[in-house]
Amino acid sequence: MGFNELKISEGSITVGITDLVNSFFNAKEFFGISLVENENKITKSLDLDSVESHKQFFGKFPINDGLYEIPIKHRFQYKKISINLNGRIDAYSKLNKTIYELKISEKNIDELVYNGSINLFKTQLFIYSYIFYKNRKEVEKLKLIIASTNKKVIKEFEYGFNEKEIYKEIKKLFPFLYDIYLFDISKSKNKKIDPIFPYKEFKPIQQDIIKNILNSQNFITFIEAPFASGKTSAVLYSVAKKYNFPQIHYFTSRNIQKNQVLDEGKRIGYKSILRKAFSESCLYSYLFCKSLDCKYYLYPTEYYSILKENGCPVIYQRLFYTMYDLIIADYNYLFYRALSKTKDTICIIDEYHSFLSRISDFFTVSINKQEIEKIRHLTFTKYKKLNRYFKPLFESDEFSFEYKNIDNNDENPFTNINNRFYIDEIKTPIDSNFFETLLAVIVNIHNFIKENNKKDLSDFENEIFPFYQKLKTILELFEFDIVMSYSRISNEKIFTYKSIKSILNKLFYGYKEVIGISATLEPKQLLYHVHDSSQFSIYSINIPKKIRTYIIDKIETTFKKREKNSPIIANLLNKTIIIENKGNKLINRSVLLFFASYEFIKMIDLFIINPLFDKIVLSKDFKSNNPSLRVYNGRIDEIKDFFINDKIHLLFMPYRSIIQEGANLNFDIAGGFFVGLPFRVPDNQYLTHSILMKEYLELSNEYSNNSFEILSLFPAINDVLQSSGRIGRDKEMDNFLYFIGKEFLNRKVYDNICDCYSDLRIIRS
Ligand code: SF4
Repeated sequence: MGFNELKISEGSITVGITDLVNSFFNAKEFFGISLVENENKITKSLDLDSVESHKQFFGKFPINDGLYEIPIKHRFQYKKISINLNGRIDAYSKLNKTIYELKISEKNIDELVYNGSINLFKTQLFIYSYIFYKNRKEVEKLKLIIASTNKKVIKEFEYGFNEKEIYKEIKKLFPFLYDIYLFDISKSKNKKIDPIFPYKEFKPIQQDIIKNILNSQNFITFIEAPFASGKTSAVLYSVAKKYNFPQIHYFTSRNIQKNQVLDEGKRIGYKSILRKAFSESCLYSYLFCKSLDCKYYLYPTEYYSILKENGCPVIYQRLFYTMYDLIIADYNYLFYRALSKTKDTICIIDEYHSFLSRISDFFTVSINKQEIEKIRHLTFTKYKKLNRYFKPLFESDEFSFEYKNIDNNDENPFTNINNRFYIDEIKTPIDSNFFETLLAVIVNIHNFIKENNKKDLSDFENEIFPFYQKLKTILELFEFDIVMSYSRISNEKIFTYKSIKSILNKLFYGYKEVIGISATLEPKQLLYHVHDSSQFSIYSINIPKKIRTYIIDKIETTFKKREKNSPIIANLLNKTIIIENKGNKLINRSVLLFFASYEFIKMIDLFIINPLFDKIVLSKDFKSNNPSLRVYNGRIDEIKDFFINDKIHLLFMPYRSIIQEGANLNFDIAGGFFVGLPFRVPDNQYLTHSILMKEYLELSNEYSNNSFEILSLFPAINDVLQSSGRIGRDKEMDNFLYFIGKEFLNRKVYDNICDCYSDLRIIRS
């Protein structure tokens, strides 16, 4: 839903009244209407059981002398444009001079009132009544009927017809629509000119990418090209050329990348917008706009203008994003399917390899026994109103933990992580009663928040909200073949999906074309498992860099060995940096050191001692007892001022940090160290998914290790290679890379490093 349903041409806007009103759906809670009903009444009716359409409803509950489905249209003149509205009145009674608007919903009526939907329904009714009256029909009363099929309730709201008052309400929309008109006209002008390539010249690799996208006939096109090869601009440019600036949903998880895409998109000629997460755009973490007196609060929505970007950024983005060509957002927007699309919208997914692992993170929810007990206790003591909704949930099979802990005689499951013994139960399908119970809890928590939005809910936000979010994700999973597993070891219930294929199909549904971009799409096997091979094509190019690259083998850096091996690893780092510094080559230059975690950095940095070193850890909240390690939490492009002169700047950070994220680094980098592989997937998730993959994807014996590679190994390699891509961007020959750890000699890991770096040697430690 959004304003992209408006048909705008020189001098006019034409739109259906339902579409116009629905365009405000994304910001419906801010849609104000000052007319109130004369009366409202509720009736309960079991007869709603099989009611799905207007025809069925009026068949069961006819209006006396009612005429149904009456087409109407009207033209309003505003400034120099005409606003043409058309629609269909649900029912009219000549005898009672009454117009009826019917809404059939599965939702609870109170929820429709709280979330503001009711204001949209009312506006729709008022516009109909005004147009009908202007068409010389008698109108005295307006009735809005809402039928909640779930609750078996019908509620009727009645309004008196007052031409002037109603016109005043409708007129408020005209300046708002006029600005949208101007915006759209300027957008159309862009479409008349050729896209502009945002750089001085095309690299050969970009020319190839453009050719491939222009020629691709497949639903999905994968582009695999090295880091920093200009993939994004080539893709955006070619899509603009192929479809004349279509609407694009561009999904990426990296913040820095989002701004770069925004900038490149604008330079190519797209009208571009960044849809930020609520937490990044809102001053407060909650919807307390009115009560907290937020300075951005502008109410109602008609005060907003697409041309000015005034008022609250959350509301601005929600209202107008559909009008933009290039909409850049985090993967979460795709997971929640929160962006509305047209039949011509193109979906671009950056970092496609991380996208697949993010699906696994996002659509897997773990709930443990302690967590349930804590919420149970809170609903008994502090949030008593919620207790009766939570009770059936906690009594459900899915949320009960009657299993005993394993005793000492049991086989130790950690010794064989692929052992099914670890996961005691995989349950599928999950009972629909559980779905109903879950839904009731979610709706009632939602109502609780709305009812109390004038109070301080910060405790609630800390205590219940994270659990509520988990419940919402579980609910989402019902759409994707939900599976539940139970882990005795951690006493956790794990809710996840049966097959990633079903998720991808749902996420991509409705797009005209999907383009997946990545520096590495390994393992290709995964692509074939999760997509229909007749639907996609892969364009892959690989140009290994000529940086001096070493693997230092033998030292183990896996989780269990880290502490023990830290002094050896530190010693090795000390020695190697000094060797590389021969002739003081590294003084006043930076070396990046990547680790699997901050804990690992803490184990190592104490042992890295040399007066020549300027040791810096990049972190917002790192605490260290080591005074020689300085913490930098500012902007990465300002770090130069933090450096101590005449030293070697050693920058410590975990993989997947801001640097890996793709920041353009404006200081001189001499080389990098990559200590171990970052296996990110938690054990329980990994185990559940690996069992499911084996069972449902019927992986052949030939690839017995396949699930480990897909779920853990390749995401880890990607993290490492992406981090290493920060080095040698300008002068490859002058730089060095050291991969430290036995794990880098695993054949698949080794092959991937070879693909990226041609000058690779192994140093036996
Ligand atoms: S920025 Fe202010 S007005 Fe906007 S959502 Fe947050 S609290 Fe509300």
